[in-house]
This record gives sequence, C-alpha cells and structure tokens, in this order.
Amino acid sequence: MSFGAARPRPRLDRDNRAFWTGGAQGHLMICRCGDCGKWLHPPQPLCRGCWSENVAAQPTCGRGVVDSYTINHQPWMPGLEVPFVIARVALEEDPSIYLTTNIVGCAPEDVAVGDAVQVTFEEDEGIFFPLFEKVAQ
Ligand SMILES: [Zn+2]
Repeated sequence: MSFGAARPRPRLDRDNRAFWTGGAQGHLMICRCGDCGKWLHPPQPLCRGCWSENVAAQPTCGRGVVDSYTINHQPWMPGLEVPFVIARVALEEDPSIYLTTNIVGCAPEDVAVGDAVQVTFEEDEGIFFPLFEKVAQ
C-alpha cells in the first residue's frame, strides 16, 4: 500500500532519531533501559521504571499483535487513499508497549484483534515509518 498523501514528518531529535531511521537497516528500534531492562516508548531519555538515564534504542524483533484497530474511511487529505487500517500494535518484547500504526498488505476487513503482525517500513526522504503486515499463520 502507498499512503498516497504525505505523512506528517517527525522532527528528529537525539531521543527519537533511531526510531524514525532504524528502518534503513530494517530494524524497529525501541528505547530500552540499560539498568532495569524496561522497554520505553515513545522514545525518552529517562527510564520510567528506575529513573536511570542509561537509556538507548535497541533493535526489536519487529513482531507484535494487533491490540485494537479502526478502519478509516474519511479522506482527510488530498491523495489519501481510503479505506485504511489504523491499529494499536502491542510489541512482542513487551506487550504493554504499543505503537499506533497502519496495517498494510491486506484488505482492511481481513484485520482482526489478535492478528500476529510484522513490521515493514515506508520510507519518505530518510524517515522510515514503521507499518505492520499480517504474518501468515
Ligand atoms: Zn530502568
């Protein structure tokens, strides 16, 4: 799927750069505390678990599960192809970490809560938006 319309571009900073550019190496990069091991998202410089500043982005396996989703039929922007799926994906490393994303590569009506999904990336001039595709089961 192509999103058609341009996605809003994030402003890169020290904390979120790995998340938005990790797709160049095919990696979904999520911040993790080096002291207590807690995964953290959105990217942040301080661990919410132990207040350590020893936080750095690490590659994840890129897999997750659809926790909830909605099908958007509203063409919010010119060029935006509808319908498309907006989903909340729980990451395999820590199912309490969610990404709000799109499920691509299948018809919107084929998406269901509990679907296993795998990250894929849509690149726009150096920004790699993490999207997810269903994993054949
Ligand atoms: Zn910690």
